[in-house]
Amino acid sequence: MTPHQDWRILCAIGLLVRNCSKVYDVDSRLDELAGLLRDSNYRLTPQRLAVVRALIEDDEHPSAETVYGRIRATLPTTSLATVYNTLDALREIGQVLEVRPGQGPVRYDVRQPHRHPHLLCTCCGRVEDAPLSGEPARPEVQVQGWRELDVRLDFQGVCPTCREAGDE
Ligand SMILES: [Zn+2]
Repeated sequence: MTPHQDWRILCAIGLLVRNCSKVYDVDSRLDELAGLLRDSNYRLTPQRLAVVRALIEDDEHPSAETVYGRIRATLPTTSLATVYNTLDALREIGQVLEVRPGQGPVRYDVRQPHRHPHLLCTCCGRVEDAPLSGEPARPEVQVQGWRELDVRLDFQGVCPTCREAGDE
């Protein structure tokens, strides 16, 4: 087999993996966010960039503290304030979704910033994206004087790990 043939097979496998397991493209999202932040005149320091990358890489809806803990090991010059400043900047450009579980700190979804439902474990605070079988109908609310009303749909329950541990 020539090296060229070899490469073609690798490409096919790569495509297959991408299609089957919906691999999240961290680098593309990082490029996208870096561009959007620059367009809005945010200065992208190495620390801020590391915060954005850590937020994208973590698919468990991390808290600010979790992100801070991860970055501190590799980039000790990053402060918790930098994590919050970066989250503020991402909020400003509409690229972060805040998830508020019943307990524990606010969690963040930078991978999918549009509104989507979550599964929240009332036992350990785990947060996961909830796959829906269809689009839920938005109920109408009869109030006056309010503006920018938003509906959040989250499911609270006990996750499989907590159930197995008998914590439910
Ligand atoms: Zn999410």
